[in-house]
Amino acid sequence: MMLGLPRTRDEGRGPSVSGRPDDPRLIDTYGRVATDLRVSLTDRCSLRCGYCMPPEGLDWLPHEQVLTDEELIRLITLAVRELGVEEVRFTGGEPLLRRGLERIIEATSRLTTAAGRSPITALTTNGVGLDKRARGLAAAGLTRINVSLDTLDEARFLQITRRDRHRDVLAGLRAAAAAGLGPIKINAVLLPGVNDDEAVPLLHWALAEGYQLRFIEQMPLDAQGAWERDSMVTADDIQKALAAEFDLTPTDPQARGASPAQTWTATARGRTGTVGIIASVSRPFCGDCDRTRLTADGQIRNCLFARDETDLRAALRNGTDDAGLARIWRAAMWGKAAGHGINDTSFIQPDRPMSAIGG
Ligand code: SAM
Ligand code: SF4
Repeated sequence: MMLGLPRTRDEGRGPSVSGRPDDPRLIDTYGRVATDLRVSLTDRCSLRCGYCMPPEGLDWLPHEQVLTDEELIRLITLAVRELGVEEVRFTGGEPLLRRGLERIIEATSRLTTAAGRSPITALTTNGVGLDKRARGLAAAGLTRINVSLDTLDEARFLQITRRDRHRDVLAGLRAAAAAGLGPIKINAVLLPGVNDDEAVPLLHWALAEGYQLRFIEQMPLDAQGAWERDSMVTADDIQKALAAEFDLTPTDPQARGASPAQTWTATARGRTGTVGIIASVSRPFCGDCDRTRLTADGQIRNCLFARDETDLRAALRNGTDDAGLARIWRAAMWGKAAGHGINDTSFIQPDRPMSAIGG
């Protein structure tokens, strides 16, 4: 849904802690409607990408704070049946580390949205272990998959992720394609002085393999707080590098909707495919955001960069009924800010790093 610039809060309707009785959906004071639920299944990970996690890992969430499969399925069911959610994306940390992943996807794909359809089920994964899980994920009803891969070079992969698993990711990609989990999207983050020369080789590779490549600008969500605006690889840098090698034709901007990626049809060496850039920092798209987020420990976040969270786990475990949980969720979304504010001098990085929020 294209909304353009957010309206001001003054034009919004007054919220109440009990939510808005006349609209069951997850709306905010700027008129945006959240239909895309991002569920983090764990804060743990098999890799240690420097832009996301420190080498030693983090203080993992205690087991008892992590939502059980049943609790998660109950909240996802509520979101799809009562709150207008149409797409559920599973992420983390690394979602393949969650034993109940297939079960949770299967339960989600059996639901029916308010519009009478099956929800889209999607997975964002680093691909480690995907070779053994791809068939089961497809059988469970998974409809979309994004695999993160920043480099074609094994040594660089080790440098970026601090783990020697490049070949495992490539095996996971092959298995995903064989299981029919297409179209496969690849998420790549370019880092200055590390892999910033790989925009072109990554796209040649993706076109040859039939993958849809998405470059993501590095965001200030690393656990170390080391992100610097001036030393990131920008969308402009990437677009310039690609345009020198490929014929790039912008895809229909109307078709973008709330998608974070700006996309082009790319052609070179007789091959054609699509490529996208997610320019969260240099070309923010907050006015069109349709996301709501549930962390592995049951906190609702109305933005990746939110400083506040709403504790749905406590309400769930206190015996709150579905109508009460729905009211809490709606109220949490009502207060969503107009934008992430990364480019404001007053910006403060959220306490949780990317891996603990869910990318
Ligand atoms: N572990 C899974 C993976 O890597 O795909 C899912 C979680 S990960 C947090 C989701 C996506 O966020 C990945 O594509 C990763 O590259 C991206 N990401 C992590 N930290 C980031 C950052 N600081 N800026 C931009 N993207 C980031
Ligand atoms: Fe793990 Fe994904 Fe973060 Fe890399 S980006 S450390 S794979 S959660």
